[in-house]
Amino acid sequence: MPLAAKKGKKKAATKTPKKSAKKPRERIVRAGEAPEPEDDSLAALRAAAAGCRRCPLWKPATQTVFGEGPEDARVLVVGEQPGDAEDLSGRPFVGPAGKLFDRALEELGLDRSRFYVTNAVKHFKFERRGKFRMHRSPDPSERAACRIWLDRELETIRPDVVVCLGAIAAKAVFGGKFRLMEDRGLWRKLADGTRAFATVHPSYVLRQRDDDSRHEAYANFVDDLSLLKRIRLTRK
Ligand code: SF4
Repeated sequence: MPLAAKKGKKKAATKTPKKSAKKPRERIVRAGEAPEPEDDSLAALRAAAAGCRRCPLWKPATQTVFGEGPEDARVLVVGEQPGDAEDLSGRPFVGPAGKLFDRALEELGLDRSRFYVTNAVKHFKFERRGKFRMHRSPDPSERAACRIWLDRELETIRPDVVVCLGAIAAKAVFGGKFRLMEDRGLWRKLADGTRAFATVHPSYVLRQRDDDSRHEAYANFVDDLSLLKRIRLTRK
């Protein structure tokens, strides 16, 4: 009997197990988490941020809008968050505010393609009103959750100069006590020695009520950005 039992067991053990046709499952990213980038390259950071669930903003948005520009850029420009056009295209600063930014740079003879351009928060926060999606400011908790991506972009690019467009970007870089309208257009040094300054977000210029205010806001915006004219835009 013990032998028969052994035989039976052996027979059962020789059955070839069926091969599973299933592919290995992708890791499910839970709420409050983000995938770990495979390495420190911008491509890996971008791929990981595409699956970020660290705050609730990913859900109603179309996609993560990560930064873009050369990995060896000397100037990193950080805005606040993507808008409607950026959310749909997946690219930063392509909507009306981005076009105004481009125009200001062009007037100063500066080439945007040499800058790395990103946002402090990588998903569009909005409120639906009829067929429109109205921009809403991200909460402090959403800004804090998204901070890891800006930090990683800064670590990877290691720019010589950081330009903050708008109060949310300036507070992310200089700290919560920064007062945009008092301290705009002035060079500061970050803890690691990187030079930085802030100016208004181009959408602030567009939001002015009348032509005179808009012209004045735009002239001041261009004047602040003119600090970049003294920066060498390529690395040796
Ligand atoms: S806004 Fe930032 S932290 Fe929130 S889900 Fe998007 S990428 Fe992640």
